Amino acid sequence: MEILVAEHSGFCFGVRRALKLAEEATSKGDSKVYSLGPLIHNRQVVEEFEARGLHVVESLNDVPSGATVMIRAHGTGPEVYELAEAHNIRLIDATCPFVKRVQEEAAHFAEEGYQVLVLGEPNHPEARGIVSYARGQATIVEGPKDIKNLALRPRVAVVCQTTQRLSNLQALVEVILPDVQELRIANTICEATVSRQKASLGLTREVDLMIVIGGYHSANTTRLAQICASTGTPTYHIETAGEIDPGWLDGVSRVGVTAGASTPRQAIEAVVERLQQLKDAKSVARDW
Ligand code: SF4
Repeated sequence: MEILVAEHSGFCFGVRRALKLAEEATSKGDSKVYSLGPLIHNRQVVEEFEARGLHVVESLNDVPSGATVMIRAHGTGPEVYELAEAHNIRLIDATCPFVKRVQEEAAHFAEEGYQVLVLGEPNHPEARGIVSYARGQATIVEGPKDIKNLALRPRVAVVCQTTQRLSNLQALVEVILPDVQELRIANTICEATVSRQKASLGLTREVDLMIVIGGYHSANTTRLAQICASTGTPTYHIETAGEIDPGWLDGVSRVGVTAGASTPRQAIEAVVERLQQLKDAKSVARDW
């Protein structure tokens, strides 16, 4: 059996940057360092940082005055910055610059009077943060099916959560366009997402089985698994190597491996090692 690892698997630029900032913040031995929500959608990494003193909180109301709080790569709404200033809380802002761009586009369109639609997941912190920047003028939609429940205004603008699929944006635009006078679109899907999705899709077509590694709460990993599964190739989404069922490999001669943007390299290596042990397999690494 051959094991092929997709290009661009694992940590993206924004996650690497957030982890570097978290390492710097926790290396000073300060016990009052917090993360507003889990730093990344990877349980193992979050637990590692918890042990180093980065405590996860759900609200700024849960931290003492004078504390340091990290804003994660997904970003947050402007009200959090205002609250931090009022409560003398120091922020370390790890918002990915690509997420910042979406926030700015949403704010700009709202100021210009457009009805802003955020193509994203209603409960995802990145999407909720983007909505806050539009100061109440934005609605999150998951795709074309949500449009029929909306009263569209004549001037509509669309921005996307950075981990969306281009095909979903295209389908949304097609449904909106006949019903509006003006439609502005900011394709804010980030390059790291596009290249990871393309590489995984290409690899899925070459193999008998795909394994997608990443947190179950990770939007981009879930999307990767959906993309791989859409080809008809059997696909399994796992968090750790221990979840691989040896039965999955029966009759498989090539297995593909890919990983979401918040998956550490060690997790990918552990999966490759386990596959090698189970099937005496040869690993054909790509540039990941
Ligand atoms: S997936 Fe893209 S937008 Fe999100 S953190 Fe990574 S690089 Fe930034």
